Amino acid sequence: MDCIFCQIIAGKLPSEILYQDEEVFAFRDISPQAPTHLVIIPKKHIPSLIDLTGEELPLIGHMVDVAYKLAQKEGIAESGYRLAINCGPWGGQLVPHLHMHLIGGRQLSGRLG
Ligand code: AMP
Ligand code: ZN
Repeated sequence: MDCIFCQIIAGKLPSEILYQDEEVFAFRDISPQAPTHLVIIPKKHIPSLIDLTGEELPLIGHMVDVAYKLAQKEGIAESGYRLAINCGPWGGQLVPHLHMHLIGGRQLSGRLG
């Protein structure tokens, strides 16, 4: 198991765990790009968005819901935040385990890439 996010889920790599349930796990990004920068991942190792099956699609809705609850906890739900899923090399995906970034706590640039 050489996936760093799978190792974080298994507790083999340290992380600041913010939420977990049967399907989803969330922790603070090690290299934050804003005052709040969290990472929300499925517990199942799905490499990328393009590997998501139709059956697994509801997972994304669940991750969006978890992100909303975490944004509330972080006190940034009202001011606003950004959810981003990078997909593939040109999409800026570095870790090959599907993940959603939750970024907020400052005015974000309108530029996306
Ligand atoms: P991406 O570029 O979309 O693949 O994003 C990967 C994210 O994972 C980056 O924002 C990294 O800072 C973050 N990251 C990598 N390793 C760790 C780690 N051990 N703990 C927390 N976040 C991490
Ligand atoms: Zn993994």
